[in-house]
Amino acid sequence: MIIIMKPQATEEQIGSLCHDLSRQGMQVQRNAGVDCTVLGVLGDVARLDPHDFLIQPGVERVMPVSEPFKKANRKFHPTDSVIDCSGVKVGGRKLALFAGPCSVENYDQITDTALKVRAGGANILRGGAYKPRTSPYAFQGLKLEGLALLEQAKELTGMPICTEIMSPKLVEEFDRRVDVIQVGARNMQNFDLLTELGQTHKPILLKRGLSATINEWLMSAEYIMAAGNPNVILCERGIRTFETSMRNTLDLAGVVMLHKMTHLPVVVDPSHACGHAWMVPELAKAAVAAGADGLMIEVHNNPAKAKCDGAQSLTPNQFDELMQFVSKEVEFFGKKMN
Ligand code: PEP
Ligand code: MN
Repeated sequence: MIIIMKPQATEEQIGSLCHDLSRQGMQVQRNAGVDCTVLGVLGDVARLDPHDFLIQPGVERVMPVSEPFKKANRKFHPTDSVIDCSGVKVGGRKLALFAGPCSVENYDQITDTALKVRAGGANILRGGAYKPRTSPYAFQGLKLEGLALLEQAKELTGMPICTEIMSPKLVEEFDRRVDVIQVGARNMQNFDLLTELGQTHKPILLKRGLSATINEWLMSAEYIMAAGNPNVILCERGIRTFETSMRNTLDLAGVVMLHKMTHLPVVVDPSHACGHAWMVPELAKAAVAAGADGLMIEVHNNPAKAKCDGAQSLTPNQFDELMQFVSKEVEFFGKKMN
């Protein structure tokens, strides 16, 4: 349930209502609306009679929230959430650019790529240390050594780092060492992992599951938020359809829908969505036009030699060229680069 206060409601009226709701065993989340305060009420709200609140001074409207996701719901939090990723703001009017190789391979590869994507305009370095591969015989990532290499690249470039976690056992380690923790498509419904991540305060980049509906995806965000961490960034990375000419099908309509349903920022990853480097620039431009809050692009300093996802990785020059276009596009849409 949400309670929308009148614009002129006083602090005292809002405070007394919150107090009353807590006494009745409810959890109250106070959020800023466009020109008023919105109280999100969680708990056994079926026990409450909306009319008891409608007659309180300062209350404008009382509305049920029928969707199963509450904290992620835009009704609960009408304004866009802006997530602070170690100084880089994701959400709102700025476009965030995550870039880097699919997997961290060695010192030269990650630092060379990091310096080049930073020069091109990237804000956050993304590289996999733990790789969820379809085959157990494929390269699984450098794991802790990869994490250490990412830290060195961060030291060299000053860029915050984003990398994928696979096991709940590593949450504490990632919380200490990583700026943005990525949950990959294959773990979107690993509820133990999500709940554990909810106990940190770290920004979590939650990728859409291979065949997940928007509702299922938002319920996964809700797991993290319900456990106490409001810092969730959604990442559309393509879904599985009947189409086989591309790795996945990029759901840009989903990005538009998400902005209506949730206040959480939405980043688009065109690289995994199509699987072909030559398609990535056009899809990235389309994502910005659809209102994406950020892009996540795979870039490798030598894609032909990449240990993972070389076919969809841009060269640093291709990334530069794309960024030059995107910076003009962002301006056209009245936004800013980060
Ligand atoms: C990745 O980001 O490298 C990755 C494995 O992505 P996804 O989980 O979207 O497949
Ligand atoms: Mn990849």
